[in-house]
Amino acid sequence: MSKTIIVSNRLPLSLNINQNEVEATPSVGGLATGLKSVHADGNGIWIGWSGLTEEEINPSLAPNVEKALENQKCRSVSLSEKEVDGFYYGFSNRTLWPLFHYFTEYSEFNNEDWETYKRVNQKFADLVIENIEDNDRVWVHDYQLLLVPQMVKEKRPDVKIGFFLHIPFPSYEVFRTLPWREEILQGMMGADLIGFHTYDYERHFLSSVQRLLICDLDFNNVLYDTRNVKVDSFPMGIDFNKFHNAAIEHSKAKVKSEVQESIDKHKLIKGDTQFILSIDRLDYTKGIAQRIMAFEHFLEKYPEYLGKVRLVMLAVPSRSNVPQYQDLKNEIDQLVGRVNGKFSEVNWTPIWYFYRSMPFENLIDLYCSCKIALLTPVRDGMNLVAKEYIASRVDNTGVLILSEMAGAAKELNEALIINPNNLDQIADAIKTALVMPEKDQIKGNIIMKDRVQRYNVERWANEFLVSLEDVVSKKPETA
Ligand code: UDP
Repeated sequence: MSKTIIVSNRLPLSLNINQNEVEATPSVGGLATGLKSVHADGNGIWIGWSGLTEEEINPSLAPNVEKALENQKCRSVSLSEKEVDGFYYGFSNRTLWPLFHYFTEYSEFNNEDWETYKRVNQKFADLVIENIEDNDRVWVHDYQLLLVPQMVKEKRPDVKIGFFLHIPFPSYEVFRTLPWREEILQGMMGADLIGFHTYDYERHFLSSVQRLLICDLDFNNVLYDTRNVKVDSFPMGIDFNKFHNAAIEHSKAKVKSEVQESIDKHKLIKGDTQFILSIDRLDYTKGIAQRIMAFEHFLEKYPEYLGKVRLVMLAVPSRSNVPQYQDLKNEIDQLVGRVNGKFSEVNWTPIWYFYRSMPFENLIDLYCSCKIALLTPVRDGMNLVAKEYIASRVDNTGVLILSEMAGAAKELNEALIINPNNLDQIADAIKTALVMPEKDQIKGNIIMKDRVQRYNVERWANEFLVSLEDVVSKKPETA
């Protein structure tokens, strides 16, 4: 029986080692959910890094680790601390991540990191090759593994390979600055199907391929050597039912979480307070600083809302050993302090700031309790939070203010779409959201909710795999 081999940087689980006991706990992220049935199907396996370095796993426990992973149909690529440093924190997150999000000034070109990236990609590819049987298909994910498709194709030209990029692909003028641009493109072109979230990313990629690899295009097919590589867009969705059903349960729940109790308490004391929600990883691509400044500008421009509006801002710690993330943390701390210091009253602070991650139940509390969601990334491959907010609005009220730079804006065009660098426009959008009649909120949200429900994460995975199955990878014979 043929199987699908899923390959991603991290396995969809976390490992806990307690003395001699090894426990593998499945994670509940979007990708894991979307690929659940593909992974569960037949002999399907998932290849990736377990999250623990070679130094963290006592050699005597290695067989137990393998066994725990095997029980979850996973195989792990073993990485040393030095490899994680050069491959993940280095080339992936200090070179590719900033460059692909148009932060060219943050992008470091370090040859040693590039060498580690290549070596680690080869480790992933070797493990994939070891596990391939005839008629299997391979689906590789994201910017950490751009070279894997070519490395696998070289050894197994008979196997169909799909690749999906979860972040933007930048325009040619930005991509061309990368010293290893040809190698990266060649790596991706080992796939038979290459998927992006949006048509724009797809076009940018095709333009780079055409100019740098000098090959012909036939619509969205690249005629590459003797092969035909299909490039297409597949906007990733969410597990709609999970969010929608949890929100329905939330509206009926008698026992409330601490977060919900504080929100309810505040609403009781100040009944006319409106909550504006913002949720992201603390990342410079998310436009968090601009968002706080826009909120400050809003309070100055519309002082009648002083004491009546509160920004609930959840920033999830991320990549905190990359220097730019530490600087950003300091900048946000200062900005929040400045705005709260400037406007706070005895029983009102304009910003509630949480620097941590929250359990799923609390995310639902926030999605359900905030009448406005303010999501203003300066660049974002998709932004799933926007879709989760819409899915969680049981009565269809609420206003989503969304950056035009998020991939999700292409599908959620009934939202109030803003330019994240235009602080005055954001301030006005907040005002518009606050006075928007409920019937207008509901009208737009029903349309968006229907879309988010139909194009859920399972459908995204199925459409990609059906398209991979249909790809005719042999270049047509020329007469
Ligand atoms: N999220 C979470 N815990 C939190 C805050 C957010 O699990 O405390 C989730 C959120 O539900 C969403 C994901 O993190 O599914 C963020 O995805 P998104 O596409 O918005 O941004 P990314 O972090 O992938 O850039």
